[in-house]
Amino acid sequence: MANIIVLMGAPGAGKGTQARLLQERLHIPQISTGDIFRALKTSQTSLAQEVLEIMERGQLVPDDLTTQLVRERTAQDDARNGYILDGFPRTPAQAGSLEKLAAEQGHSIIPILIDVPQDFLEKRMTGRRNCPVCNEIYNIYFKPPQNDNVCDFHPDAQLVQRADDNVETVKTRLSTYEKKTQPLIEYYKAAGLLRTVDGTRAPEAIYEDVKSALSVAKMSLQ
Ligand code: AMP
Repeated sequence: MANIIVLMGAPGAGKGTQARLLQERLHIPQISTGDIFRALKTSQTSLAQEVLEIMERGQLVPDDLTTQLVRERTAQDDARNGYILDGFPRTPAQAGSLEKLAAEQGHSIIPILIDVPQDFLEKRMTGRRNCPVCNEIYNIYFKPPQNDNVCDFHPDAQLVQRADDNVETVKTRLSTYEKKTQPLIEYYKAAGLLRTVDGTRAPEAIYEDVKSALSVAKMSLQ
């Protein structure tokens, strides 16, 4: 039996950074629904355009489509020994689909909340920049690159800002999170499944807590 590590938390809480560390160190894939949707930028279909418009408004892509994509991605061979979900589930309906999927795949779900107070989040998001080559995540306020706006590992790569990390969309994304995803956190908490880590510290310190949360969760599953 393998594990599905579900990283939860508001947009900007640092789920992507932790998912990347877990992927590198546990050798199981990070599956980010946001990354899957952003990759549609190169597709010209009307469905792709529709999804990109929803994202730019800071709203949620419909549950059926999102769940279908997760189902297909997690059926790939590299996810056989478990995987890390980053940004899914985000609604109670998606959580229901995940439970079904986990049962079919014979995996256990370990939800971990990266907890960050609301006032940190806006700066985390509006300051965020990514390397277009290796996807390394920077922040102009909290983790600037060594040289202005270029990746430390790819000096030819100018950092990019996500289309939905502007002030207006960030506000909608935070309120969407409160309305749609917060109830899910309460649900995992009430079920006694949720582990919470303090997400206000440096990535490595948060990672240590995520690792401890995982070992506690595994013990209670055995
Ligand atoms: P993220 O990179 O996780 O912040 O996601 C960026 C955007 O992609 C979100 O604001 C949504 O528009 C869309 N998205 C990502 N994951 C989901 C999901 N599980 N359900 C619905 N929409 C999603």
